[in-house]
Amino acid sequence: MDVHGGAGASAAAATDDVADEIIETLRRWVDEVVVPESSALELADEYPTAMASQMEDFGLFGATIPESHGGLDLDHVTYARVIEELSRGWMSLAGIVNSHLICAKLIDRFGTDEQRDRSLPGMATGKLRGCFSLSEPDSGSDAGALRCRAVRDGDEFVINGTKMWVTNGERAGIVALLARVPEGDPSGSSGITCFLVDKTPGKHAGGITVSRKIDKIGYRGLETVEMSYVDHRVPADRVLGGDGLNGDGGIGNGLRWALAALELGRINVAARGVGVAQAAYDAAVAYAKEREAFGKPIAKHQAIAFKIAEMATKLHAARLMTYDAARKADAGERVDLAAGMAKLFASETAAELSLDAMRIHGGNGFSTEYPVERYYRDAPLMIIGEGTSEIQKLVISRALLADD
Ligand SMILES: Cc1cc2nc3c(=O)[nH]c(=O)nc-3n(C[C@H](O)[C@H](O)[C@H](O)COP(=O)(O)OP(=O)(O)OC[C@H]3O[C@@H](n4cnc5c(N)ncnc54)[C@H](O)[C@@H]3O)c2cc1C
Repeated sequence: MDVHGGAGASAAAATDDVADEIIETLRRWVDEVVVPESSALELADEYPTAMASQMEDFGLFGATIPESHGGLDLDHVTYARVIEELSRGWMSLAGIVNSHLICAKLIDRFGTDEQRDRSLPGMATGKLRGCFSLSEPDSGSDAGALRCRAVRDGDEFVINGTKMWVTNGERAGIVALLARVPEGDPSGSSGITCFLVDKTPGKHAGGITVSRKIDKIGYRGLETVEMSYVDHRVPADRVLGGDGLNGDGGIGNGLRWALAALELGRINVAARGVGVAQAAYDAAVAYAKEREAFGKPIAKHQAIAFKIAEMATKLHAARLMTYDAARKADAGERVDLAAGMAKLFASETAAELSLDAMRIHGGNGFSTEYPVERYYRDAPLMIIGEGTSEIQKLVISRALLADD
């Protein structure tokens, strides 16, 4: 059985020659360039400039942006396969495009024509980088408790607050920022609104300061930062969906829209889990066949062989669940349940398999000379980002137990 992704495992995209060609090109690049170079960059916490530039050439910054705005407009299944391949080489590469594409998805689905025309073509090339900024020091899972405020002053909003965990925040030229508009809450909703904040890439821009770069145990090489806003002024026409002076538009719709866009993020994180789990599995199998103990390769010891059987089974299930969620998204179905289940299962599988691979490597698994230690450090992020496993269980159980 082929436990690798691709045509063998993807019923939906297998017939699509273009999709298969994209994946094959990417797979070769990952094997030839990413796999040999990523561990050194990751350990040095160095941004992979050359790899990101190659990803621009592949068009990956426009992966899910419509062709009409210069993107590749990939279906969700192909997008999941792309993310899986990148993550098999180095999970951080998937992070470079994920929050960028969540920002683009928000603009594409909920923005005005003017907002789409202004930002999406630049974002599709990767020359304009986006990020997504919902979390704060005191609100993560409980996103509705965010405190960042945007107060109207004529044709502008004045923003004050601190945002945490902004991946790609320093390099971004546009931030999808969630802030509370206290006076803009006629419907009695939370007033949480999404702003498209333009900024010059770098540590300072107007009233925005990248106040610190967070040092992480994994997912290194790309920046995750804290950003503070002090009296930062944003034109009212940068409210996602319009400033709603006539009672329509985006004021108060930000959280609902952000949660909808995060469904793409959950498929992305599930696919990342599959990619890391695949890398851990491949490393474990190769090592188990080569390493000898008690006169034979350790793969010939039944305890190791059974461990590999379990790993392959979980990996296969995680991949099928991820593609199933992606297929449902492509069919325009609701995906909260399927994406929540896929994200929960695939992220936990990545964490389990990276530890299994480390066990199979014995002492070598604990050294930085083998990549399994990186998989072990990267995997837990998938359990946390885009909603923790506990939050996925909330989403899943709510969908299952909802009254008709
Ligand atoms: C490396 C990294 C990159 C990130 N990038 C971004 C980004 O680009 N943009 C962004 O906006 N955010 C980003 N995040 C933030 C991420 O989305 C949050 O960390 C995540 O949502 C969890 O929030 P929290 O850290 O505040 O944990 P908390 O919400 O404080 O949760 C702590 C614990 O309590 C549990 N818990 C909370 N509520 C419940 C409940 N109701 N029932 C049961 N258990 C519960 C959680 O599951 C968790 O185990 C990033 C995080 C990391 C680590």
